Amino acid sequence: MSEHNIPEDFYSFETKAPFERCIECEKYLLNDETEYIIEKAVKNYEGYEAKDVVFDYAICMNCAERMRKEISKESWEKMMQYFQENMNVQTQLDLRENGPEENLRKCMIKKTGIDDCREYQIYAHCKGGKLNMDNPPYMISGEVMEELLPLLSDKTIDEMNGFMNKHFSPDPSLMEPTPPRLILV
Ligand SMILES: [Zn+2]
Repeated sequence: MSEHNIPEDFYSFETKAPFERCIECEKYLLNDETEYIIEKAVKNYEGYEAKDVVFDYAICMNCAERMRKEISKESWEKMMQYFQENMNVQTQLDLRENGPEENLRKCMIKKTGIDDCREYQIYAHCKGGKLNMDNPPYMISGEVMEELLPLLSDKTIDEMNGFMNKHFSPDPSLMEPTPPRLILV
């Protein structure tokens, strides 16, 4: 499988360079064998070029796994079911066949183009300074996030909000009309 460097889309908004540390435990991430996830939430403004990064972070696999265990089993199963029902085999093949750039241009589920999404989130599974293409990067639109939210238990939403409040103090105007949501995949 071909190797891909981490696209700039996944660089830290703050440093404009690749993430170096896990947001939870500060583990150094750019060693060749270290695996981690990057998540970034972006807001578009209709008719404007400007985009706002609502939040972005990298998290090592140990911390991601620990947080995943805190999500209720029921919420987790419902989310997995949603993805199973809304993603066909072709979508999964396309994610692997298309390069990372192509994957980030439209919503994995709704196929909405990136410029037509009011908000969206992108995810990458990385290993050191490279993408792990066994689990290719993808984008989901705000529409999908809105469909996922009712599937989650109050406990899960509390966990996610706790994580957000611990690490970010987003500009309140970015939280309108709907707050960003964290989805660990
Ligand atoms: Zn960590």
